[in-house]
Amino acid sequence: MGAQLAGLLAKLDIRGPRDLLLHLPLRYEDETRLAPIADARPGFLAQVEGEVASCEVVLRPRRQLVARIRDASGVLVARWLNFYPSQQKQLAVGRRVRLFGEPRVGFFGVEMVHPRVRPVEQGEPLPEALTPVYPATAGVGQATLRKLIDRALASEPLDDPLPPDVLHELRLPGFAEALRALHHPAPDADPAALELREHPAWRRIKFEELLVQQMSLRRAYNARRARRAVPLPVQDRLPRALLETLPFRPTGAQRRAAAEIAADLAAPHPMQRLLQGDVGSGKTLVAALAMLQAVDNGWQAAMMAPTEILAEQHWRKLSDWLAPLGIEVAWLSGSRRKREREAVLERLHNGELLLAVGTHALIEDPVTLPRLALAVVDEQHRFGVRQRLALREKGEEGRRPHMLMMSATPIPRTLAMTHYADLDVSVLDELPPGRTPIRTRLASDARRDEVVERVRQACLGGRQAYWVCPLIEESEALQLQTAVETFDALAEALPELRVGLVHGRLKAHEKSATMNAFSAGEIDVLVATTVIEVGVDVPNASLMVIEHAERFGLAQLHQLRGRVGRGRAESACILIYAQPLSQTGRERLKVIYENTDGFEIARADLRIRGPGEFVGARQSGLPLLRYASLENDTDLIEPARELAERMLRDMPEAAERLMQRWLGGREALLRA
Ligand code: ADP
Ligand code: MG
Repeated sequence: MGAQLAGLLAKLDIRGPRDLLLHLPLRYEDETRLAPIADARPGFLAQVEGEVASCEVVLRPRRQLVARIRDASGVLVARWLNFYPSQQKQLAVGRRVRLFGEPRVGFFGVEMVHPRVRPVEQGEPLPEALTPVYPATAGVGQATLRKLIDRALASEPLDDPLPPDVLHELRLPGFAEALRALHHPAPDADPAALELREHPAWRRIKFEELLVQQMSLRRAYNARRARRAVPLPVQDRLPRALLETLPFRPTGAQRRAAAEIAADLAAPHPMQRLLQGDVGSGKTLVAALAMLQAVDNGWQAAMMAPTEILAEQHWRKLSDWLAPLGIEVAWLSGSRRKREREAVLERLHNGELLLAVGTHALIEDPVTLPRLALAVVDEQHRFGVRQRLALREKGEEGRRPHMLMMSATPIPRTLAMTHYADLDVSVLDELPPGRTPIRTRLASDARRDEVVERVRQACLGGRQAYWVCPLIEESEALQLQTAVETFDALAEALPELRVGLVHGRLKAHEKSATMNAFSAGEIDVLVATTVIEVGVDVPNASLMVIEHAERFGLAQLHQLRGRVGRGRAESACILIYAQPLSQTGRERLKVIYENTDGFEIARADLRIRGPGEFVGARQSGLPLLRYASLENDTDLIEPARELAERMLRDMPEAAERLMQRWLGGREALLRA
């Protein structure tokens, strides 16, 4: 195979014959029948055959190749906006061709735009089975892929490492049989089952994919457990002291999670735990207790948060909580002055300071935490894998710190099982008492004035409000401009109130000054972009207004709404939307209006747009699923999990072969 072809195939993630086997059709086309041209109906894929009556390059309305194909029943126009000289040759007048495409009524009468063309001889037999259509790329078309795949099918070993008893029980075909059925469907194969990927051959492949994912996650988990970490036995001196000084008691869920973590920390291998809890469930306290267990043993702990605002807020909270215990917390952010920063770094380096909170400034080079025994990552889905790994590397060589990941983006159980099979999970499924439920209201933008009035009343009554500006994904500049305009408009409409503005382009110290002023009650209305999305905690704020709510994702809306309802006051969230609403926009608003439970919302989100985005799979570094769907193939997940354990334990060689087949070298990152 030439280097050029190899390069093109790499774009399709095909790096060898093994990958070709698993390069499965996107869909299938029915070329087993011919339609008379006169019967070809707009909107339905059809195959027609006829003689080329004319073929020319037309320059208007733009340069294109236009051919007329005639059969006994009529004439059809075919058009190509991009074409090669070779195509023109195929379409020489008098040649016989088959066209496959979707007819429509167009500029030139009934036409097909960019149909597939195949030169044929008179009376050439039709294929007997459906034709697979593969993901392709410029330069590697269907014909090439088909040829390469057939070659791989003939030359590669197609042995089946799956135990027959499992195949039998799940009624799944063998590997070779499944591949053949998908690459070369039988004439009598059920087209709908192939198309919808419900055919047993598809189920076999999806099962295998889920199995491989489970095995590789499991293996990563085991590999990490085999490493050494600093054991931090439970002394319960500082954690207890903290709980005694707090004005509230931990919830049952907080106690349970804290106990699970405490037990992990005492072990001589690194903890890898995810703490999942809905917005406002009190994850920070659980993290603080864990960090104190490190301090109790004379070791360091660090907490990393994705935004400056959040990091500073954590630092303030921890400092407030820990000052009475005589513990100082270091704060590291990109914005601290050099001299202050260096002083802090020095004290962290020589172990004088045991606790550090920061943004990704924590993982930058000059930071050394020689006695780091616990790393906490808040809102972990906001960080890339590499950043999380970098934090882990801050400790002493050869020892891994314990890791606690926190996420307010709750995910459904099946997702957690597959995406986080390499983590242990603790769940905070209980909110602290005394919260009044947030009321959610929808308002069309025609009623913006009423909403402004509502803000005025709330603030005059001593409350505070957030006003979140529309998300403009295409342009950060435009987003900024909108924020500034919104700020001006509100400041003018509400002259008796103190209006503040915070957005991503502000310098860190400006952001922090504004947030502090809002926290201290010196600002009544905070106009903000989504920089306040995660974590911000100002209990006196009880009104949240979100403009163009239909543009936000569900997880985002839930996070934003979670900024209120944190104090005793009755809280409300007003979602302003613009008409007309798209179908998805409408669905999302309905979900957020009807639900307050993050897990419910996550489930709905999964339904509306699939799992990928929600858990940030793209940057999670986990092997993505190409064929299986966590939503549709739930019945395969549990058996895949069970078999994964069994194969790793009893059939390590078969397990290895399977993983090689699917992942090749791609497992490296995962096991890092
Ligand atoms: P999240 O889980 O969203 O990170 P936080 O840790 O920010 O939640 O906690 C939300 C608020 O609840 C904070 O003001 C925190 O001090 C408070 N809080 C935490 N635990 C309790 C509790 N057991 N009882 C009352 N308030 C609590
Ligand atoms: Mg938080």
